[in-house]
Amino acid sequence: MNILLLGSGGREHALAWKMAASPLTERLFCTPGNAGIAQEAECVALDIADHAEVIAFCRNSKIDLVVVGPEAPLCAGIVDDLEAAGIKTFGPTKAAARLEGSKGFTKDLCRANGIPTAAYERFNAAAPAKAYLRTRGAPIVVKADGLAAGKGVVVAQTLAEAEAAVDMMFGGSLGAAGGEVVIEEFLTGEEASFFALCDGETAITLTTAQDHKRAFDGDEGPNTGGMGAYSPAPNINAAMADRVMAEIVMPTLRAMKAMGAPYKGVLYAGLMITADGPKLIEYNARFGDPETQVLMLRLMSDLVPALQASRDGQLKAFDLRWYPEPALTVVMAAKGYPGNYARGSAIEGLDDAAKVEGVEIFHAGTKAEGGKILADGGRVLNVSAVGKTVRQAQARAYDAIARIRWPEGFYRHDIGWRAIERERA
Ligand code: AMP
Repeated sequence: MNILLLGSGGREHALAWKMAASPLTERLFCTPGNAGIAQEAECVALDIADHAEVIAFCRNSKIDLVVVGPEAPLCAGIVDDLEAAGIKTFGPTKAAARLEGSKGFTKDLCRANGIPTAAYERFNAAAPAKAYLRTRGAPIVVKADGLAAGKGVVVAQTLAEAEAAVDMMFGGSLGAAGGEVVIEEFLTGEEASFFALCDGETAITLTTAQDHKRAFDGDEGPNTGGMGAYSPAPNINAAMADRVMAEIVMPTLRAMKAMGAPYKGVLYAGLMITADGPKLIEYNARFGDPETQVLMLRLMSDLVPALQASRDGQLKAFDLRWYPEPALTVVMAAKGYPGNYARGSAIEGLDDAAKVEGVEIFHAGTKAEGGKILADGGRVLNVSAVGKTVRQAQARAYDAIARIRWPEGFYRHDIGWRAIERERA
C-alpha cells in the first residue's frame, strides 16, 4: 500500500515509525513531516488546508490510505473531501469530529445519553455566564467551545478568575473558538487518557496513558501541549476499562450513529476517575501527542490493518496485541515554551542517545539543514523508552537525554513520578 500521513509532530513520527515497519506498507509519504519522520517516510510539501492539492497528490502517487494526525484538518472536513474523491482516509468526518471541535456539542450528547461528565451549562454572552458563575461559586471550570490549541480551558480557583476567563473568551482573544462558552463543575480525582479505535459501530481499546501538562517539575508552571507521558495508566485496571467502554465510549458511538454521524478513527477520552467512577472531561478526535509515542512503543500488532479496519467498518472481529511492559516519553522543548522561543539551534548527540537500550527518539519540531538537526518548534524531541517498570523506562529515557547536547532546550526531570510512587508502594 501507498500511505500518506498528514502532520509534523512527535505523534506523526511515532505513527510513521510504526507504519513503516508494516509489511503492508510499500511507500510511506508524510506532509509536511519533520527531520525524524524523513528517516521513515518521503516528506512532501503540501498545503494540508488545500484539500484539492492533497487530493491531486493522492491521485498522482496512487495513495491507498490517508492517515490524518492533527485535529484541525479533521474539523475542517478533510476526511469528507478525500472520501468524496474516492480516497480511503482514516479519521472522523467533520460532523463526527465535533466531539473534539465543540465542547458544547459533546456536553449535550453526554446529557442526552446519560454519559457521566461534569455538570455544566452553555452560554453565548458574558452577562448570563457570570450570573451562573455567581450561583455556583469556585472552584469552577470555564471552557471555550471551539478548538483553541490548549488555551481554551481555565480551571478557576476563585470567582474573580472565572469571571476574567469569561471576559477573555467573549472578548475575542481566542477568536471564533470563544464565541460560545461552557461552564462546568470542578471534578476531583485522578486523570487518565483512554484511547479507543472506532469503526462507526464497534470500538476496541488502544490502551491508556497519563500525561504531564504543566511545563515544570512538580507539575508547576504554565499548561503545555504535554511535557511527557507514560502507558499504561496505573489507575485504569481491566474492570475500570470495561466501565469506560460501557458507560462512556459505547453510548457515544451509538449516539453518533443515531444522529447520522458515525464515529470512525481514534476516540481519545480525557477522563477524571472520581469517587463516583469515571467521568468524561473531554474528547479528542485523534491520537494524543505525546501519548501516541508511548502507545506505539507498546503496540505489538501491525498498526496498518487496524487503521484500515477502522476506516472500513471491520473492527468487530479485530484484535490488537500489546506488550505488557510500560513505556514512557520525556518531551524536550525549546527554552521559553509554551511562551516565546527561538528556532534554529543545533541538536547533537542524537545517534549516541538512541543507542541506550529500549530507547526510541521521536522528533516533534525539528528540521535537517546542512547535515545538522535543528530545533524548529516549541516541543522538539520525545525521548521515549520501554522498561520492565516505569522506573526503568524513566531511567533509560533520562540516560538518553544525558547524551543529547542541546543547551537551548529544557525538559522535566520527574516524568512518571505518580506511577513510580505507586510502583514503590
Ligand atoms: P481539556 O483541555 O478539556 O483537557 O482540559 C485541560 C485540563 O483542565 C484537563 O486535563 C484537566 O486537568 C482540567 N479540567 C478540565 N475540565 C475539568 C473539570 N471539569 N474539573 C477539573 N479539572 C478539569
